[in-house]
Amino acid sequence: MYIRYMQTPFSMKKLILLLACSGCFKLMAQKASGPIDSALLMKDVKTLADNKFEGRKTGTKGNRLAQFYLLDRFKQVGLKQFNNTYEQPFYFTNNKGKVMGTNLYGYIPGKSESVIVISAHYDHVGIGKPNEAKDSIYNGADDNASGVAGLLAMAVYFKKNPPNHTLIFAAFDAEEMGLQGAKAFVAKLPVPAANIVLNINMDMISHNDKNELYVCGTSHFPALKKHITAAAGKSNISLPMGHDKSGDGDQDWTAQSDHHAFFVKKIPFLYFGVEDHVDYHKASDEYSRINHSFFYQAVQSILEVVKEADK
Ligand SMILES: [Zn+2]
Repeated sequence: MYIRYMQTPFSMKKLILLLACSGCFKLMAQKASGPIDSALLMKDVKTLADNKFEGRKTGTKGNRLAQFYLLDRFKQVGLKQFNNTYEQPFYFTNNKGKVMGTNLYGYIPGKSESVIVISAHYDHVGIGKPNEAKDSIYNGADDNASGVAGLLAMAVYFKKNPPNHTLIFAAFDAEEMGLQGAKAFVAKLPVPAANIVLNINMDMISHNDKNELYVCGTSHFPALKKHITAAAGKSNISLPMGHDKSGDGDQDWTAQSDHHAFFVKKIPFLYFGVEDHVDYHKASDEYSRINHSFFYQAVQSILEVVKEADK
């Protein structure tokens, strides 16, 4: 290789150099204008998965601390508030009695009254049985600090690139206790239900070894397939559509996360998530276990879907 390079005529070398440099600049330009701030995305997921939040179980101090972090981030991003608040407290009953949860949401106004709700649950399962490594904190890095970090990254993007639709960014509480936050949200919507054209839900989007991010919902809403196909064409990861047919048994994810509350209200949804992995609902679902490159691509791909749906 070295010898062949030495024998290359000068003009050819110049051309190669020129091509190489233009490639460099193209890469640099792509990086500089890339819509998602990778460092901030990783900081958000790392922070939310920190031990200090004690697994973010609904009703605990750790969950409340996570709310404070998210309220700060919503303010930094500049999300607008409905009725002067980002907080929607709600109550439900489980086997331990009455529980209070808190949804957090804000919005970016669009050019029309049509609304897309982008959602991710921020709660997780808290502290459990210690594993062999004597770790008892279920950090929920993938489930679902990843979805919330993705939601924040998209909010930053659309703040800089105003959308056509009004975008509501909703971080739901108590998903792990039966989609309670999403149910409370759809029961008391901040906008008329008829204005909501789509829910984009993210739950577990950072941990997969096959570079596969599943999209659930297109069997119910085939008209949404074109957005996935368009985004897949620009993506370095694959976006298989599925896990949404009633014949799939427990592999039907239609009722597996917050999008189901929208589905029940006949609001179209697309749910993005990975297949279960070894750290699913374990204390080992830590920041150190997520795939950075996959996660970044996943958020970028979901952003492309939202951009398509917003056209
Ligand atoms: Zn989850």
